[in-house]
Amino acid sequence: MKFGVLSQRGLSSQNLGVAVLPVPSSSISPAPSPSTLTLSFQRSELPRGSVPDTDAETPLGESSLTESPCVEIPLSAAASTNLSTSNSAGFPQKVAPNFPLISRRSVLQGGARCALGGMAGAVAGACGLRSEAWAAPAPSLGVTWRPVQFSGRDYLPLEQVGRFYGMGTVQRAGKECLLGSGEKTLRGAADSTDFFISRIKCVLSYPLAEVGASVCISRLDLVKLVEPVLRPFKIDGAERVETIVLDAGHGGSDRGAVGRLGDEKTFTLDVAMRTGQLLSRAGYKVVFTRTSDEFVSLEERVQVANRLSRALFISVHFNSGGSGSGVETFALSPRGVPSMSNEGARVSDFGVYPGNSRDPENTAWATAAHAAMIARCGMIDRGIKRARFYVIRESNLPSVLIEGGFLSHSEDMQRIASPWYRQQLAGSILEAVRNYRRAVGGSLT
Ligand SMILES: [Zn+2]
Repeated sequence: MKFGVLSQRGLSSQNLGVAVLPVPSSSISPAPSPSTLTLSFQRSELPRGSVPDTDAETPLGESSLTESPCVEIPLSAAASTNLSTSNSAGFPQKVAPNFPLISRRSVLQGGARCALGGMAGAVAGACGLRSEAWAAPAPSLGVTWRPVQFSGRDYLPLEQVGRFYGMGTVQRAGKECLLGSGEKTLRGAADSTDFFISRIKCVLSYPLAEVGASVCISRLDLVKLVEPVLRPFKIDGAERVETIVLDAGHGGSDRGAVGRLGDEKTFTLDVAMRTGQLLSRAGYKVVFTRTSDEFVSLEERVQVANRLSRALFISVHFNSGGSGSGVETFALSPRGVPSMSNEGARVSDFGVYPGNSRDPENTAWATAAHAAMIARCGMIDRGIKRARFYVIRESNLPSVLIEGGFLSHSEDMQRIASPWYRQQLAGSILEAVRNYRRAVGGSLT
């Protein structure tokens, strides 16, 4: 990414960090799986993907929440056994029901370091994860959402989140909180936007908040981030993926970031071509926005995407600037959610863009892409972030933009300049497509 070239608000150079998480010694006793949950949200507020979900939070408040009637959410579709039956043959039948977008390899990769002090008695050596299969989700019975207000927004106590997703009780260590155990965890800290889903770093739109005795997550982050990641198979209207649009950033007169060992435009094209080869071999249709060193406008790139259906769009970029290092993945900011600027400032926008019709899929696709990239590339995890870059904003397809490292950082640059690393990036995109398709399923028609 080169600022100005994509006519965007820029990128954040903040939030450097490595996904770290302890393995708690305590285990959660799964509750029996009921057939329904009872919620007091109105339908559009449910933390699930099976309702129309086009409205992001507005600053006007959500007083109607407490007045809305209870509705029942059928949970049968959330059962892990349904995942494999709703997908085609040829994909592994064993899936990770709670975090199907995140491969076990990603989780293992993230276990290099442990934090949270002695909260769970974890030390670095204890981060090796158990080898048994993922357990089926075990949502608890009768979760009644009781939102609390914080800074004019709806927040949900993590205790309720834990109960809803069958992740047990919240473990606290000061401001830090952990839900779940083993490979299935949510971790964050009050007043922080850094949030780890199964060790994959996500940047929340709003910080976790301490309200009374509870640490709470904003309703918007629950609906727009946590839910599509934990239950991608509940995303309403998700299409079965057949085609991948590979968008090599920059090109021609637009060199992108300029590195000592090469230009961004050259490396992005190489990654796109390598990825195309892998995807084609795996049986996917591949569409490129460019296949040579030519200038392609942002509008033309989006036009390519918007001619297609049953497709995913991924824009490949490399970063530049400051002392930054590592990889990051951008999904479109939901309506009203702050976008990250290069100053670290957060800019809200209440416009509704074409890409917002794909908010849940965008999150799921970004998670799959980022988790696979972290697993394969061994880079610093800068997290999954929100922005309104033109190509992901105007696309009708589930879309992400990846930044595969910093050309301005000597070690990152050495890697980016190596064919091996670019092949790893390509492999990660193939893996992400497979994980997304397996997790989201989508209509067979
Ligand atoms: Zn770029």
